[in-house]
Amino acid sequence: MTCLFCRIVAGEIDSDIVYRDEISTAFRDINPQAPVHILVVPNDHIPSVASIAPEQEQLVGHLLHVAGTLAKREGIATRGFRLVVNTGPDAGQSVDHLHVHLLGGRHLSWPPG
Ligand code: 5GP
Ligand code: ZN
Repeated sequence: MTCLFCRIVAGEIDSDIVYRDEISTAFRDINPQAPVHILVVPNDHIPSVASIAPEQEQLVGHLLHVAGTLAKREGIATRGFRLVVNTGPDAGQSVDHLHVHLLGGRHLSWPPG
């Protein structure tokens, strides 16, 4: 298994896991860009948003629900937070396993760079 996030889900690589269920795993980003920076990933390998199959729609919705739940747990839901899903080279996707960035705990400027 060569995919980094598959290996984190499998426990082959250590990470600070904050949530796990039968569909998804969430862990703190190793290079945080905000006071709260968590990655929510499907346990099964999906390369990117561009490769989501119709039968995976519910799974992807689950990732957003988990992200929202974690935002509340981390205490950033009231002031606000941002979910980011970089997809492909122009967006800077560096790990080809679908992941939702949960960012918060500071003001986040817009538009993104
Ligand atoms: P992308 O650039 O693909 O949108 O996001 C990939 C994210 O994965 C980056 O924010 C990067 O810091 C994070 N990351 C890369 N390798 C590791 C790792 O080994 N452990 C953790 N926890 N995060 C990682
Ligand atoms: Zn993977």
